[in-house]
Amino acid sequence: MNDLPRLGQWSTPDELEALQDKQLPHLLGWAAGSPFYAARLGPALASMRTRTDLESIEPTSKQDLRDAYPFGLLAVEKEELATYHESSGTAGSPTASFYTAKDWVDLAERYARKWVGINASDVFLVRTPYALMITGHLAHAAARLHGATVVPGDNRSLAMPYSRVVRVLHDLGVTLSWSMPTETLMWAAAARAVGYQPGRDFPALRALFVGGEPLSPTRRRRISELWGVPVVEEYGSTETGSLAGECSRQQLHLWADRAIFEVYDPRTGTIGPEGSGQLVVTPLYREAMPLLRYNLGDDVEVSYADCECGWALPTVRVLGRAGFGYPVGGVTVTQNRLEELVFSLPLEHEVIFWRARAEPSRLVVEIEVPESRRVAACADLGRAISAEFGIDAVITGVGPGTLVPTEVLTGVHDVVKPRSLFGPDEDWNKGLLYY
Ligand code: AMP
Ligand code: MG
Ligand code: ZN
Repeated sequence: MNDLPRLGQWSTPDELEALQDKQLPHLLGWAAGSPFYAARLGPALASMRTRTDLESIEPTSKQDLRDAYPFGLLAVEKEELATYHESSGTAGSPTASFYTAKDWVDLAERYARKWVGINASDVFLVRTPYALMITGHLAHAAARLHGATVVPGDNRSLAMPYSRVVRVLHDLGVTLSWSMPTETLMWAAAARAVGYQPGRDFPALRALFVGGEPLSPTRRRRISELWGVPVVEEYGSTETGSLAGECSRQQLHLWADRAIFEVYDPRTGTIGPEGSGQLVVTPLYREAMPLLRYNLGDDVEVSYADCECGWALPTVRVLGRAGFGYPVGGVTVTQNRLEELVFSLPLEHEVIFWRARAEPSRLVVEIEVPESRRVAACADLGRAISAEFGIDAVITGVGPGTLVPTEVLTGVHDVVKPRSLFGPDEDWNKGLLYY
C-alpha cells in the first residue's frame, strides 16, 4: 500500500484542501530540482512551502514546456525515469513529459478510478496510441494494476486495422475498452460490415471508456445505444495523466486530492478556484517532472457544487475547442452543436459518419446513410439545422462506405518482417518496405 490519498479519505472541501496543503511542500521541494523552475523562480523557490507561495508563481505554459524540450523540466536523475512521452499536437516542436516508476503508481491509480471499475476478470482492449503519447500506456498500466488481461490494440497502427479490432472485441470477449469516442463508432461500422450487430453480438462488453476529444451528450447517448453499454468518460493529457473521471452520476470529477486545480480567466487575467476559463493544474505527486500551475489551454467549467456520488470532488465540463466555430450567414456554427443535431436523428436512420463545410452563406453537409433512409434522414437533419441556426443548409445523403471507405473498415494488412531474398514468382517490392 502506498501513501497516496484514496477516495473516501475526505468528505469536505476543507479536508480536501488540507490533503493538498500537506503535500505541497514536498512538491515544491521536488520542483527545486528542476532546472526550469530553478531558473524561473531563483533562490525564492527554496523557501516556498504554502499555497500562498504557489499562488505567487506565474503559470507554466505549453510554450514553456516546448522551450524546455527535452529535459529542461527533469527534476530527478535520468536513471530514475521509467518512461518518456510526447503529447499529440501537430507538427512543430515537441512537448516532452516523463515519469518515474513511483509517478506511475499515481498515474495508474487515477486512471482506474472511474465508476466502472477494472478487475481481474476483465479483458481490457487498449485502443489508443502507444507511440510517444501516454494514453495507451496509461490505460495499460491501470488495467495491469487491477489484474485485468490487457489486449494492446494500439491505434493508427498497420498491425491493428479495424477488422482486427472487431475480431478481438468479439472472439476474446473484451469486457472494457479504452479509445476516443469516435473509435467506438468506427468499430460499430466495422462490426456491421462483417455482419455483426454491435448491441447484440458482443455480450461480454460491459463498458466503453472514452476520452481524448470532446463528446456531446447526444453523441455519447448514441454510442451507448449502439453498443448497449455505458460510455464512461475520462479527461487527461500526456503532460499530466488522468485529470478527471466519471462518477456513478455521470459527472466528470477532477482528481483534486492528487492535483490542485485552478481556472485562468483570459478576459480578466485572474486565476480562481472555479468557474469558466482555462484549466491550470499543479500535479501533487510528481517527482520526475514537477509542474507548478501548468495551463493546459483547455476551456473548462469547474464547479464545487455537491454531487450525490459522495466523492466530494469538484466537477469539470471540458469544452475543449467547443467554442470554436465558423461563420455561416452571420451565425457561428460549431462542431459541437452540429454533432448534437446529427446524433439526435432517430437511431433507425443509422447515421454515424458526417462532415460539414461552412461556407459564407450556407452550410454544406454530408451524412452516410442507407438508401432506404436517405430522404427521411436528410429532411430531419435539414429541419434540425434550420431550427437551431436559422441558416441555409445543403444536406446530401451518401452511401455507406463513402465518407469512411469500406476498405478501411474491413481491410487487413500483411504485417511481415523485412526480407531480401525472394523466389522467382514472388513480389519483391514487399521485402524492404516491409511495413
Ligand atoms: P494529449 O496531451 O495529446 O494526450 O491530449 C490531451 C488533450 O486532449 C487535452 O488537453 C484535451 O484538449 C483533450 N481531451 C482529453 N480528454 C478529453 C475529454 N474527455 N473531453 C474533451 N477533450 C479532451
Ligand atoms: Mg496535450
Ligand atoms: Zn459525482
